[in-house]
Amino acid sequence: MLFDSHAHLHDTKFRKDRADVFARAREAGVTRFLTLGDSLRASREAIALAEAEEGVFAAAGIHPSSAASWDAETAGELEELLAHPKVPVLGEIGLDYYWDKDPRTIERQQICFREQLRMARRLGKPVSIHSRDSNEDVLRILAEEDAGEPGGVLHCFVGSYEEARRGVDLGFHLGVGGIATYPKLGDLRETLRRIGPDRLLLETDAPYLPPQPRRGKRNEPAFLRFTAEAIAEVLSLPLEVFAETTSRNAERALRL
Ligand SMILES: [Zn+2]
Ligand SMILES: [Zn+2]
Repeated sequence: MLFDSHAHLHDTKFRKDRADVFARAREAGVTRFLTLGDSLRASREAIALAEAEEGVFAAAGIHPSSAASWDAETAGELEELLAHPKVPVLGEIGLDYYWDKDPRTIERQQICFREQLRMARRLGKPVSIHSRDSNEDVLRILAEEDAGEPGGVLHCFVGSYEEARRGVDLGFHLGVGGIATYPKLGDLRETLRRIGPDRLLLETDAPYLPPQPRRGKRNEPAFLRFTAEAIAEVLSLPLEVFAETTSRNAERALRL
């Protein structure tokens, strides 16, 4: 049984065939899912899906690409969404310096990130963290905001062993996405091997970032199996053991 700990299954890219997507996922052994909002509107859609579909949990949060919308009113509405019983996680939140290099908008991103980390601490909700070209600032802010309690996951982790270690030492888990199967990312696989299975969560980030055998396609939870098989091999573990370990890790990290 596999747990897809980070996906966007409420996305319009699944509108036409969502029932088939879930059927294929379950056939591939993927039975539980966390679908994450990146804005208030997407968070509401994620919650509606979690109410309708077996095995689906939702996360609500404001992604760095929506940081311009962050204000007191948005914060109040987000907190209301987080009170819903099917919303165990605040996310996805974080920093993204790939798309955004303007110092003024980067400052907005950091304010939006910090204030949501404080909200998560206050509410006792774990966080799902997005970091792109920004690991140094993300790790610094997580430490400054004492975010290890309630902790959470550095989703789709890409970075050095030292960065991975700092995240784990802060109390976070690492999200292993399809990127970890790409031929060029041998260093990342070596990092995951050194960290070991007990702090890893599996994820697709569907509809984005499919694993190597499905590159160029729309990603979906059934493809989680390719990532699970590839990384189980890196860790020299039978697939069943790795699947069970990562599912247990997800329950613990996401406080289900
Ligand atoms: Zn992300
Ligand atoms: Zn995502």
